[in-house]
Amino acid sequence: MKIVISVLAAIFLFAFGSALQAKEFLRVKVLSKNTRPGDTVIIKLDSSYEIKEARVFTEFNRPAPCFNLDRQWYCVAGIPSAYSKKSIELMFDVKTKEPYFLMIKEEISVGKKSFPKISWPSPWPLSGQAEARVFREKEMFKIKIENSSTTFVPSGAFALPLAKIKKVTSLFGERRVRPKPHLPRIHNGVDFRAKAGTPVYAPNDGVVEISDDFYFEGGFILLDHGGGIKSNFMHLSKLSVRTGDKVLRGQIIGYSGKTGAGISAPHLHFEIWVHDTPVDTFNFIKDFNKLIFKK
Ligand SMILES: [Zn+2]
Repeated sequence: MKIVISVLAAIFLFAFGSALQAKEFLRVKVLSKNTRPGDTVIIKLDSSYEIKEARVFTEFNRPAPCFNLDRQWYCVAGIPSAYSKKSIELMFDVKTKEPYFLMIKEEISVGKKSFPKISWPSPWPLSGQAEARVFREKEMFKIKIENSSTTFVPSGAFALPLAKIKKVTSLFGERRVRPKPHLPRIHNGVDFRAKAGTPVYAPNDGVVEISDDFYFEGGFILLDHGGGIKSNFMHLSKLSVRTGDKVLRGQIIGYSGKTGAGISAPHLHFEIWVHDTPVDTFNFIKDFNKLIFKK
């Protein structure tokens, strides 16, 4: 898909009080071919100065860290699956070795994508206690997802969390349409059929941010892989890691199951978030591995 990039007006270089055109000092190259709702935009950053720190953000999220791999800076940004505008503006906030602050904006065209719709039952009423618990769990997740570690980076390609994928039972972005007045729910991950007790592997190195039993999610693990990229796993029957643990790609983090309220069949629900946006799991892995690790 053709990517139309236009560098917008306000580009500044603040250096000892003088404002210069940052375009000469900072180059942004969009590597991703697919920039549709749910896709991940992968960008290469280059500067004539040594970059010390870089962050990327859009109009609706907080800055996420970019990362340096083998002396090349990359930034990743997720396009929400419900995004309906024709373009998205990415802002880059860069600090270079000399105390310079560079800011650059890139407008990226967003293609069209429709997601499957399926009918879904109405939510059932929760007890006050359950409601309070769900609220607490949502808050805990939100705090973790909005804060991305800058102390480590995604150091290798991503893998799928199961040794063998037997069947994908639900795709990313599926709209679960419930009887009115309820709004459709968006499926933020992918579901794999997996009988209870199937080992679940860390898709990449990272740190365990949550390993707990959640009301709807059941046995739940959230991993931070650095660079603003996180993955999570739901309905696990057993958790093999604790919050704060470091994990290596391919390490067993737990076992699949059918835990969580309303879950009728055992499966593994797997999500990838790019900062605070859930992205198409398969497309993320494909693009990230190919564009950054040539795999
Ligand atoms: Zn699911």
